[in-house]
Amino acid sequence: MKKLMRGLRQFQDTYVPEHKKLMASLAKGQSPNALFITCSDSRVQPELITQAELGELFVIRNAGNIVPPFGATNGGEGATIEYALKSLNVDHIIVCGHSSCGAMKGLLQIGNLEAKMPLVYNWLIHTEATRQLVEDNYGDLEKADKLDMLVGENVLTQIENLRTYPAVRSMLHRGDLSLHGWIYNINDGSILAYDSERHAFVPPFTDPNKTFSNGHGHGLSQMPGEHRLARNQSQRIFKGSY
Ligand code: ZN
Repeated sequence: MKKLMRGLRQFQDTYVPEHKKLMASLAKGQSPNALFITCSDSRVQPELITQAELGELFVIRNAGNIVPPFGATNGGEGATIEYALKSLNVDHIIVCGHSSCGAMKGLLQIGNLEAKMPLVYNWLIHTEATRQLVEDNYGDLEKADKLDMLVGENVLTQIENLRTYPAVRSMLHRGDLSLHGWIYNINDGSILAYDSERHAFVPPFTDPNKTFSNGHGHGLSQMPGEHRLARNQSQRIFKGSY
C-alpha cells in the first residue's frame, strides 16, 4: 500500500502539472478511440501496451476478457458496450486475450471450480463454447499448447458474442464498426492480431508475405509461437476457427 501512496503523490506532483491542458480538456468530456476489452490480469495494461494517453481508451476488464452473449446476464459488460457505441460513438472494439491466462487455466478444469469457486465457475460458463470447441477438436494437445489454443479461441468466441448485441450488429451492418481480436504475450510484450481473411493470429506490423515466406515466395518459415512449438503445432494453434 505504501508503494501505491507514493505513486499517487508522484502522479500529482509530476504527471498532473505536465498534462494540465489535456486534463482540462478531458474534464469537459471524453472521446475515446476504442473500446478495449481485456483480462483483469495485473500483467496486462491496455494503456501501457498501446502507449495510449488519458482519454484514448474506454476499457472493460474482467477475468478472461469475456463478453457474455446478449441477454445472458445483467452484468456491466453489456451496459458498457452500449454506452461506448451509443454515447461515445466508439467505432473500434478490441478484445485482447493474453498468454498464461489464469481464467483460461480455470476453464481447462472447470469441473473442479463449481464447489471451490462458484462465482468464477458461473462466470466462465459464459465461454463454455470455447472450452468445448478446444476439448472436442484439440483434446489431444499437451497442456501448454491447449492453453495457447484456448486463449486464441476465447478471443474469437468473445468477438462472436459481441455480434449478438443489437447496437454492435446494427453498426456492423452499416460498416461503422470494426472488431479486432488480439493476443498479448506477457513474455515479450508482443501482440498478435486476428486476420479474418487468413484465419490466423499474426503479427500486426509486418508484411504478411515476408513474415510467412521462406524468402523464395512460398512456404511457411515463421509462424507465431514457433519459438516454443513445433511448426505444425504452431500453425494449427494459431489458425483460429472462423
Ligand atoms: Zn487472464
